[in-house]
Amino acid sequence: MKMTKKCFRLKSLLFYILILSTFLLASCTSSTETKENINSTEINNEVDENTNPDLQAAEFIRAVDGDTIKVNIDGEEFTVRMIGIDTPESVHPDKEKNNEFGEMASKFTKSMFSENQTIYLEKDVSDTDKYGRLLRYVWLSPSDNLNDGTEIEEKMYNAVCVKEGFAKSVRYGKDTKHADTFDKLEKNAYENQKGLWGITDSTFSQEIKEEPSESSYIGNSNSKKFHKITCGGLPSEKNRVYFSSREEAIENGFSPCKTCNP
Ligand SMILES: [Zn+2]
Repeated sequence: MKMTKKCFRLKSLLFYILILSTFLLASCTSSTETKENINSTEINNEVDENTNPDLQAAEFIRAVDGDTIKVNIDGEEFTVRMIGIDTPESVHPDKEKNNEFGEMASKFTKSMFSENQTIYLEKDVSDTDKYGRLLRYVWLSPSDNLNDGTEIEEKMYNAVCVKEGFAKSVRYGKDTKHADTFDKLEKNAYENQKGLWGITDSTFSQEIKEEPSESSYIGNSNSKKFHKITCGGLPSEKNRVYFSSREEAIENGFSPCKTCNP
């Protein structure tokens, strides 16, 4: 009788040890798994993987000038005109249009990219211009919120170029998604005499002082007429298309208003 009791106790003790060790092993494994998960999350953050479907990855090849770059998309070379901005000319076929300030803007752009760097392209309304160049915003690293002002000024090159005073904020046609942000950055760069703004004799800063960031002409997307900003017959906000020159309005198929005669 006594032996059986002892034996029973021993058996139940062994049973408990077995259960306990199973639990211990299980918790041990799960804590290792958690650690592995944390590590893989950290690695993903470092890689900065693009998960935004509105951004297309491309490989930077070289800068043509301050606002134009060459990129490689899936093995094919494209020219990208960075939209919403304008830098002084440095490689214009009409050599009289090129100047040392264009060279400076070009150097700044070159300094901000490195060969084979992955960049991320954001489209606005237009795909290409009449020269077949892709019209894009160029992100230096991917972002989940393309409309956040802080993200834009830190990660999008078009904005950085305006922020550092090497480009003007310019509204071309309908591609004006980020124009208000660019205008603010331009105002700030001007007030703080950043980049080309700080050079008093720069044709760039003279141009800007004479002609602030607002576009000079406003088109009506319904009637296809364009007006001076001062015209009494301007279209409603939602039908407005902005142009910085008469030529640009005409090239886009708009005809001058007969009242204000732009
Ligand atoms: Zn008019």
